[in-house]
Amino acid sequence: MLLGLIMLLAVGVSAKDTSWEMTEIGGVKYVSLNRMWKFYRLSTKTGRAGCISYGDQHHVVSIRPEKQDFYVNNYRYILSYPIRRHHDKLFISAIDVKKLVDPVLRPTRLKSRNAVKTIVIDPGHGGHDAGATSPWAREATCNLAVGLKLKAKLERAGYRVVMTRSTDVFLTLGQRVAIANRTPDSIFVSIHHNSGRRAASGIETFTLAPQGTTSPFARTRLNDELQGNEQDSENIALATAVHSRAIKSTKAIDRGIQRARFSVLCTITRPAILFEGGFVSNPEEGRLISTDSYREKLANSIYEGIVAYIRTVGNGNGLKARNTRTMGSGSVQGGSSIHGGSTYRGTTRL
Ligand SMILES: [Zn+2]
Repeated sequence: MLLGLIMLLAVGVSAKDTSWEMTEIGGVKYVSLNRMWKFYRLSTKTGRAGCISYGDQHHVVSIRPEKQDFYVNNYRYILSYPIRRHHDKLFISAIDVKKLVDPVLRPTRLKSRNAVKTIVIDPGHGGHDAGATSPWAREATCNLAVGLKLKAKLERAGYRVVMTRSTDVFLTLGQRVAIANRTPDSIFVSIHHNSGRRAASGIETFTLAPQGTTSPFARTRLNDELQGNEQDSENIALATAVHSRAIKSTKAIDRGIQRARFSVLCTITRPAILFEGGFVSNPEEGRLISTDSYREKLANSIYEGIVAYIRTVGNGNGLKARNTRTMGSGSVQGGSSIHGGSTYRGTTRL
């Protein structure tokens, strides 16, 4: 009940509108997908093959029953809980509506009170910690190369940048987080590259799993008790802005925007993402990652994503934006998009 009320308030529906009814499935609070489509004024679209798709002029949302994938404008997200079929109707978890769907479909509602003043760039690993290595690439070196390019682009555009490291030195995860946490009005972008099976490839972006959800990348019993960083919505908006541009620019496989409880994400108090720019362990991608032109593409996508995020969410106009919005009709106009253009042909791009 309490969650229901928080949910109603969070998505801006009049409390009198009882149609956001909660249905408990497997111990998780769910809401009807039909109600969600209606609330966001999304209507049936032809979308991704094999998916049920709804959309408006800015977005096409695609889902599949019993699956945890969720696509917006053909970019992949991993829901905290799968879509469920229940008494012949489809349901999505309430926390996914609040912490993923709403900030992604209506990023302009998120406007933070304080403008983003500094970008903290964190090239992962370094020094004796090489990160992932392969015959084609050393992760720590790739992370730093992309990070330094990103720094140059941001500074050229007039943004203030703090690097957790600018050379090949080792820092603990705690030291990296401490730098971001003591930098006021900052956002945190950790840059990594992946390693896995030889065939594995593609880009993925991690944000902290919201409090109370389980994370496939959490390894402790504290999973459900660990706090979110109070930036769940900002995290997903920042991830969307960066990830979508990186996929579009590199045409790499989209492994999705995923939730995790990596320690670097758990203790940070700023909007934060951990970006994985490809697999050093994949012969083809590993070679690409070692080229200056590919690193340039990655840095440019992250740069453009950060700028789009700041323009949409982090420009400090939050109070004004909140006060001018009308509520209570049970349905609110969809906002603009912070995706880097759709990879799905036929949808409108912003
Ligand atoms: Zn790494």
